[in-house]
Amino acid sequence: MTKRKGRLVRFWRWVKRGRAGRYVRLARMLSARGMANLDLNERVQHRRLAVFEAHYSLDRIFPYSWDEFRRLPEMAGCINCGLCLSRCPAIQGLTLDRDAARYAGPREVGISLSRSTPQFWATSDTVYYCTLCGACEAVCPVGIPIPEVVEMVRRKLYYQESVVPAGGICPPCLPAAHSALQINLESPAGNIFGQPMAGWEAWEKPEAAFVFFVGCAFSYWERESIEQTLRLLAWLGVDVTTVDERCCGGPSRVVGAPLVEAVAAHNVAAILAKGTNRVITACPRCALTLAREPAYAGLRVQHTSTFLAEHVEALGTLTPEGPAPCVTYHDPCEVGRCSGEYDSPRAVIHAAGLELREMAHSRELSNCCGAGGGVRGAYARTSVGIARQRVEEALETGAEVLLTECPSCLHNLRNGVRSRDGIAVANVSEYLGRRVAS
Ligand code: SF4
Ligand code: SF4
Repeated sequence: MTKRKGRLVRFWRWVKRGRAGRYVRLARMLSARGMANLDLNERVQHRRLAVFEAHYSLDRIFPYSWDEFRRLPEMAGCINCGLCLSRCPAIQGLTLDRDAARYAGPREVGISLSRSTPQFWATSDTVYYCTLCGACEAVCPVGIPIPEVVEMVRRKLYYQESVVPAGGICPPCLPAAHSALQINLESPAGNIFGQPMAGWEAWEKPEAAFVFFVGCAFSYWERESIEQTLRLLAWLGVDVTTVDERCCGGPSRVVGAPLVEAVAAHNVAAILAKGTNRVITACPRCALTLAREPAYAGLRVQHTSTFLAEHVEALGTLTPEGPAPCVTYHDPCEVGRCSGEYDSPRAVIHAAGLELREMAHSRELSNCCGAGGGVRGAYARTSVGIARQRVEEALETGAEVLLTECPSCLHNLRNGVRSRDGIAVANVSEYLGRRVAS
């Protein structure tokens, strides 16, 4: 090889390897010969995609939606600071329960997003212990929306379990209580218990300005509480009726299942038949579902916290003579952190002349009662353990009554109270309803 030819060969190799090579390759791709190569590359890409999809479909993890894909960087941006761990009720609850599985907490849920398909299953041990309380997100310095991540992972796990044939490679992971909940919702009963509910015919009118939507949890566990709430609304002169209702469908979202359209359609028809689209409910999960699900579009929904705050003048007449009863208030996660409603319940409590003593953790930093996210149904011991911790916090205030405004919080906190504790638990509207009646 001549000296000149050798220099040319070295220059050509440099062009091919270096930055200039990219332009050369681009030019070649645009040439007829390059286009042929591009087609070949595309064919290789398609073959790789087919192999990838075949692996994916073995595990039946359904692809990210465009919205999920767009939000992945936000969801997977954990900086591993560990702040969320100190606020997570699931971690604290499981520490109390020696038999329970390990729950590594929100940080692990966040990190799991970056894992490969087989390791995705590792999250199934953890995501069902999450109460979706949002306490982690409230302190996360980079704002990782952990409850949304948990809901997304649950949706994928539910989908996998519902489509994978028996003997497939996916281990069953959905807690039995969560599977039963969805089956019950799809049954003719149309509620989470799968049983015919005793109705609210005594409070039903042919037409009214407002519909009061009771919800499954109040109907089954805490009927007396709602009797008092309805009594308070009647005393305030609110033209309100109950309806023949089914579950709002919100619990399906909690377990990762699709909304049962039939129950939503039944509820919408029952509400509109009363000549109104205005709904009041004391259940925050019902309020969120009726306000946000497209199947309920057109309804105007208020939680009792906000509705009663519009009547503080009338409630002022309930101020007792003599020393004001001392109460404390537990912010339900779906009223507080989910809906940003902290002031309305406190305004109602003050208007009714009650002395409010705040717990060490309240408002945005309120501790969870342990009932949310389907934890109460799936892991009752853990759930009551968390409620017990919240009751301890309430006892430290010296209050006579622990108030809240949510059927799940009410029921779980009542379970967390021991007979010697000397503190009563009630919904705000229930407590005031009793004052009206007495
Ligand atoms: S939402 Fe609540 S229970 Fe779930 S990981 Fe966050 S702090 Fe823990
Ligand atoms: S607080 Fe946020 S950034 Fe810190 S470990 Fe938890 S999820 Fe990650």
